[in-house]
Amino acid sequence: MQDFETDGHRARKRFGQNFLSDPNIIRRIIDAIRPQPGETMVEIGPGLGAMTAPLIERLGHLHVVEIDRDLIARLRETYAPAQLTIHEGDALKFDFGSLGADAARPLRIVGNLPYNISTPILFHLAEFAAQVKDMTFMLQKEVVMRMVAAPGTEEYGRLSVMLQYRFRMGRMFDVPPGAFRPAPKVMSSIVRMAPLPPEQLGAQDEALLGRIVTAAFGQRRKTLKNTLREFLDDTDFAALGLDAGLRGERLAVADFVAIANHCAARGRGG
Ligand code: SAM
Repeated sequence: MQDFETDGHRARKRFGQNFLSDPNIIRRIIDAIRPQPGETMVEIGPGLGAMTAPLIERLGHLHVVEIDRDLIARLRETYAPAQLTIHEGDALKFDFGSLGADAARPLRIVGNLPYNISTPILFHLAEFAAQVKDMTFMLQKEVVMRMVAAPGTEEYGRLSVMLQYRFRMGRMFDVPPGAFRPAPKVMSSIVRMAPLPPEQLGAQDEALLGRIVTAAFGQRRKTLKNTLREFLDDTDFAALGLDAGLRGERLAVADFVAIANHCAARGRGG
């Protein structure tokens, strides 16, 4: 991707800037989000405002988190503070819990996310799941396929398990490169994520679950007996009813939770 001038702004590769320019696609995304007046919503990376404008129109007020100072200056010129609250900085470090969402008005998070930080941003956002109603994102299709992948498939891995543990997720539709300026090299997809109720999550120690999942997928070709050596011995595999000769990709999210709770109960891997 070359640096590319759009609407008087030079798109910055380091900030993953591909701006939506197809009005039909923009309308489809906004319809999929279904913003309602008075909702608390934050858009990550508003850019030149392709989604920002129709969101403000429907909501009345929107929060945005943007890292690029030139784009922030443009947003300040275009929107009144009563319509738009601009949070200047890195979404990876932003405290999404600071936006005043509560049980009555849980937070909705949306964005055409910068692809170069998709995985870290998804893990960062997962930390705020308790305050969130839903999230609708555009991401590289390949990443969305990994997020929603089923056990036993090639795409199934750490990202699938850790997100499916916490969210109900669905791929909504694909967006071709031609819908952006400049056009990215890859297909994109829209994904919706809704946090599961806390009582459905089930892991007693989520940090331990994270370490187990990371270990299980660290060396994909190796069996659980090898990858989970630090956590489980033959007796544990037998107690859990799991075949130590399987690879991590065969296990369902519930299997990983059972392993983590078994280890927590035995004081392992803590
Ligand atoms: N929403 C716009 C659209 O759809 O046309 C822009 C999308 S563009 C793919 C990603 C946007 O995220 C850019 O505006 C970019 O400056 C911003 N961005 C990149 N990295 C960021 C970060 N770490 N924190 C906040 N915003 C970031």
